[in-house]
Amino acid sequence: MVELDEVSKSYPGGVTAVRGVTLSIEYGELVAIVGPSGSGKSTMLHLIGTLDRPSAGAVRIDGHDVARLSDRQLSALRARRIGFVFQQFHLAPGLSALDNVADGLLYAGVPMRERQRRAETALVRVGLGDRLDHRPHELSGGERQRVAVARAVSGDPALLLADEPTGNLDSASGEGVMELLWELHAAGTTVLVITHDRDIAASLPRQVAMRDGTVV
Ligand code: ADP
Repeated sequence: MVELDEVSKSYPGGVTAVRGVTLSIEYGELVAIVGPSGSGKSTMLHLIGTLDRPSAGAVRIDGHDVARLSDRQLSALRARRIGFVFQQFHLAPGLSALDNVADGLLYAGVPMRERQRRAETALVRVGLGDRLDHRPHELSGGERQRVAVARAVSGDPALLLADEPTGNLDSASGEGVMELLWELHAAGTTVLVITHDRDIAASLPRQVAMRDGTVV
């Protein structure tokens, strides 16, 4: 699913955030990328999520060499194959849970009725079938993150990237979100969790530990 070959990423100004990383992640794995703040985890997420291109080395996602794809092709790959969950949820405040999830399918080119049908299925899957019409401020933090997970998986991505998904949640809600990620893993989705939390990392089947931009 993910192959990084001697990948480096430098930012303008001279910071090399990722240096010489070689890593493969098989289809269906559940993996933690763990390390302290500043170790390069978010940069890795951007590279693996094809939101950013490497300065050196090769990134292959689902068999596609990122360097050989145009921006438009990369957007299509993201829309069809990759789901994202962020610490800050990133839900639209005025929209219902259903519309928040349905709008996530806009870029995959799914017609409206089908978007709404899939959004409802995804919300039922994360246990929010009775919260379809609630707007984000009417939901708890844990429920908001479950909406964000529903949005990420509504397009049935092969790869789910979760950046500190429990960072803003109390421990009980955090455990609920981690359980959800385990369920997606059991159903065959490749799941990558970016975290600085060693306990969360240790609870997952595989840990990729980062420090100073390298895998240690
Ligand atoms: P983490 O997610 O582990 O906290 P990051 O990947 O965000 O680490 O950052 C790694 C290093 O790259 C840090 O030193 C950070 O300051 C630097 N960095 C991150 N993003 C940028 C950017 N857009 N421009 C310049 N430097 C950056």
